[in-house]
Amino acid sequence: MEHYFIEFCYLAASVLFVLGMKGLSHPDTARRGMKMAEVGMLLAIVGTLLQKQIVSYEWILLGVIIGSLIGGAIAHFVPMTALPQQTALSHAFGAFAASLVGIAEFHRHGAELTGLKMVAINFEVLLGSLTTTGSLIAAAKLQGIMPGTPMTFKGQNVFNFLLLFVAVGAFIYVLAVPGATLAFYVMLTIAFVFGLMLVLPIAAADMPVVMSLLNSYAGLAAAATGFAISNNVLIIAGTLNGFSGFMLSMLMCKAMNRSITNVLFGAFGSVSEAGVVERTGEMRELNFEDVATQLAYARQVVFVPGYGMATAQAQHVLSELAEALENRGVTVKFAVHPVAGRMPGHMNVLLAEANVPYSQLYELEQINPDFPNTDVSVVIGANDVVNPDARDNPSSPIAGMPILEVDRSKAVVVLKRGKGKGFSGLENPLFFKENTGMLYGDAKSTISKLVQAVQQS
Ligand code: NAP
Repeated sequence: MEHYFIEFCYLAASVLFVLGMKGLSHPDTARRGMKMAEVGMLLAIVGTLLQKQIVSYEWILLGVIIGSLIGGAIAHFVPMTALPQQTALSHAFGAFAASLVGIAEFHRHGAELTGLKMVAINFEVLLGSLTTTGSLIAAAKLQGIMPGTPMTFKGQNVFNFLLLFVAVGAFIYVLAVPGATLAFYVMLTIAFVFGLMLVLPIAAADMPVVMSLLNSYAGLAAAATGFAISNNVLIIAGTLNGFSGFMLSMLMCKAMNRSITNVLFGAFGSVSEAGVVERTGEMRELNFEDVATQLAYARQVVFVPGYGMATAQAQHVLSELAEALENRGVTVKFAVHPVAGRMPGHMNVLLAEANVPYSQLYELEQINPDFPNTDVSVVIGANDVVNPDARDNPSSPIAGMPILEVDRSKAVVVLKRGKGKGFSGLENPLFFKENTGMLYGDAKSTISKLVQAVQQS
């Protein structure tokens, strides 16, 4: 009876995970999707805690208390802008747990492990270990503890393939000779080193793609753990995680017009300066009053948020500005680039938090034809995603990346603190165009002043 109840919990959890992911695919249903996934996780935990192999609950309880305290503190204190590195750390912990389960299983059963079970444990340890070190490096780069630029050396790709070759050799040897401890630990060590080598050459701007890929590896490691310890919900959840992470990486690459091999092996950011054009002209500085008047008397205004809006936490005041303009009869739209910010859906989450209606959110393909009809496009802390060089300069390092074509609007106002570059480190010719003006300052305080000025105009 107990067995059936556990399997029922696992089945219900798996269905809820699938429905939850479906819900997450649209902003309207995202919150419901998240709740479903949470209930699914609760059921999976309840089912697991009822397993009769558990002899005592003290250690589990201790783990629950420590985990809840750390999780609660992270949720409370980590700012939205630090979510990418926090996610990388979570991947590292999850993957390390999978790796430890694999090592424990190898020690418990040793030479008894053969066939599919050993294949599963090998995969678990290999993917789990490389994801652990890879994710730690990703977190350190994103947090600025390590330089965000690619760290490369001559012959790096050859060295990496050599490592992979030896790891695969050890993998096969452990299968052929059950209980081969030395080969098992060689594989384990190489996996840890391989994780480092995989992420060191990645520039911080490419990190979200790599993290999503590491997330996919962590999922596949969990699925392998499921096979190793015969746990159905781990197999299903791990596979879902593995494939969704992989698909997300591919979607991000598409949004940047890059191939996954170029992201992984191209050391983007260290590339030659060929195609990088240094501008010497002047940027035209605007003042609040003029911009407020321009906005207040426009027919259509399009807001283009980027990473700077996230760091400034300017989404709430931006929503107020949009409302103030709408009250004056201005048509307001928000243009969301798929890789604006530092993680997929970054802008959608922030704008939803500020209660911007979904109907005002436009994707790249929808809004681009509308820019020529737009009186003012207001760029809020975005840079790379509005860089016309991606469209106009075939030798630019970001050539071919789809952009929001704000430069085709009648006027462009760019809100940023100074002359800082975007995450790609490239100059942006948009800022030097005749129809573009700069409004310098932190996005939140700039927009607050604009709200007042619009309300008074
Ligand atoms: P961005 O190119 O990184 O530019 C952000 C701009 O915001 C900077 O030029 C900075 O200029 C300004 N800024 C920073 N803090 C500010 C503040 N407090 N107030 C006002 N402005 C501020 O951002 P983006 O256009 O959103 O582009 C995202 C980048 O990340 C792209 O290169 C994309 O390929 C990459 N990426 C994103 C993802 C993803 O999933 N979202 C994935 C992979 C890669 P100042 O310093 O002068 O203020």
